[in-house]
Amino acid sequence: MSVYVFGHRNPDSDSIVGAISIAYLKNQVEDEEYIPARQGEISAETEFILDKFDGEVPVLKTSVAGEKVFLVDDSDSLLFQDDIKEATILGIVDHHKLGDLTTNAPLEMWVRPIGCSNTVVYEMYRSYGVEIPKNIAGMMMMAILSDTVIFKSPTCTKVDTKAVKELAEIAGVEDYKKLAMEMFIVKSAVDGASARDLNTRDYKEFNMNGSKVGVGQLEMVDITVLEPREEELLEDMKKMKEENGLHTVLILLTDIMKEGSKLLVVSDDESKIEAAFNTKLENHRVWLDKVLSRKKQVIPFVQPQF
Ligand code: MN
Ligand code: MN
Repeated sequence: MSVYVFGHRNPDSDSIVGAISIAYLKNQVEDEEYIPARQGEISAETEFILDKFDGEVPVLKTSVAGEKVFLVDDSDSLLFQDDIKEATILGIVDHHKLGDLTTNAPLEMWVRPIGCSNTVVYEMYRSYGVEIPKNIAGMMMMAILSDTVIFKSPTCTKVDTKAVKELAEIAGVEDYKKLAMEMFIVKSAVDGASARDLNTRDYKEFNMNGSKVGVGQLEMVDITVLEPREEELLEDMKKMKEENGLHTVLILLTDIMKEGSKLLVVSDDESKIEAAFNTKLENHRVWLDKVLSRKKQVIPFVQPQF
């Protein structure tokens, strides 16, 4: 029976590349066939990476009851298929807080508080002594540069920068920072995108002590292009909140050059968000200097308010 490898809903580059890099590694060392999969459409950023390094789009897998699965880039049931609890989880590779998924049998876990799941995968290749193919090395390098915002994110560690340098060498890429900037310019495109497209481009829901909180993030090289559309984004956030029975919807407009995020807030209780960041909202928004990471600088501060 095959094993499907996939990352979280609304797959980002770490989730897609992680499925590819883990499946390749496992196919070198295990008897079972590992198949890279995904839960949804790939982003423009991921398409850029796959095009550049000859990667294939993983198969779409929206239901996994009765299947064997291997998870990458999260371990929380809210971020996986509705029937994930009916699948057999063989392993988890991640760099987030531990989620709520449990298993009936022993499993393999590679979880570290570092910048990217693909850095963990890089260490797995080293540990198994498996050579990383040139194209997979290129994709892994790009996933790490994306997750660490070209090393600017506070989640980035020395392990990540070292991995990128070594992967760049294998991939034969000299100026990886230049290539990463090209990727972020592709990622920043907002022309023709609806408010809902933008709000859900990189969107996750969290269960905070019984209250559902949705947090989206747009990482851009210049967020001022979105200024004329902020009202429209807030209007759509209100709709998302009603449609999905959420307590709060947060959207982070992250400016990777100014190194901070403008936070847009729609909430049943804005004072919780003000307390989380020790700030005052002005017309449902506030600039948070130096805040680049949802997992390290947003969720750990919002969660205790619930
Ligand atoms: Mn991710
Ligand atoms: Mn990640």
